[in-house]
Amino acid sequence: LMQLGIPLNFIGFMYREIRQGVTDLEQMFDLLGEPAEIVDAPNAGLLDVKGGSVRFEDVHFAYDPDRQILKGITFEIPAGKTVAVVGPSGAGKSTLSRLLFRFYDVTSGRVTIDGQDIRDVTQESLRSAIGMVPQDTVLFNDSIFYNIRYGRPDATADEVREAARQARIAHFVESLPNGYDTPVGERGLKLSGGEKQRVAIARTILKSPPILILDEATSALDTNTEREIQAELDRVAEGRTTMVIAHRLSTVVNADEIIVLEKGRIAERGAHAELIEKGGLYATMWARQREADEAEARLARVKAED
Ligand code: ADP
Ligand code: MG
Repeated sequence: LMQLGIPLNFIGFMYREIRQGVTDLEQMFDLLGEPAEIVDAPNAGLLDVKGGSVRFEDVHFAYDPDRQILKGITFEIPAGKTVAVVGPSGAGKSTLSRLLFRFYDVTSGRVTIDGQDIRDVTQESLRSAIGMVPQDTVLFNDSIFYNIRYGRPDATADEVREAARQARIAHFVESLPNGYDTPVGERGLKLSGGEKQRVAIARTILKSPPILILDEATSALDTNTEREIQAELDRVAEGRTTMVIAHRLSTVVNADEIIVLEKGRIAERGAHAELIEKGGLYATMWARQREADEAEARLARVKAED
């Protein structure tokens, strides 16, 4: 926002407008969500996806010129493989996903897909190749059906329902008086964070893109639902180039490579066993996660006894 030069009090104004229902939230995201300077190159071609291998090459990035967020990031997700990105909050993980989706352009370095700089292809062809389950899903002010089918507008009703089933949201939807026609979003039924994530997951399953970005895709779910959906996401990710940003480390154990991001730099990288062996930041995070999981399990047992 700062980059757009919009003063904070204007955002406050916008926020009040939204609260009063004057401005549509979607429109605000259209206005502010994507920086205006991202435009297709005059001679932009269509992205030609072969295997869908993704490369970040010495990527630097700043939202505001005086605050570097990514400080020289180089890694590759070979076609069909999974790379996990973990690290403390604020490290720049979601920023990586936004750069791959080209919500922003890199300050220096480049991002390529099958050797093509993503700045040289149309945004439409780029985004049709990538499915993203973001950290915070914003739904359209439309029906649940529309929100899922958005992933692939020519999908049949059966395909939409099947995607909903795989994302473990079908039961919930079918229990609503108006089922799939139920309006959601700002003016419709308010869905919980977990329900919104499942709608986004259904949308992505339907889209079935060659490249997947899962940004803490299951963070708003309870442990059991998370486990179920994780299994489904693992299946979806099979054979697709996948960048998974994870808050729960148990979901990254099988990644082909784990990248530990800290303050915009790669602090460690390797497979799970190598990083544990190394006894560094990842090993510490893993130990902390284990303690948290055990504490949660103890709490669940105490609750069950009540
Ligand atoms: P992570 O996903 O690892 O928690 P992010 O990539 O979301 O971290 O953010 C990295 C840093 O960039 C944070 O310090 C965050 O405050 C900052 N940041 C994120 N989005 C913006 C934005 N739109 N404008 C300015 N700074 C931002
Ligand atoms: Mg994030």
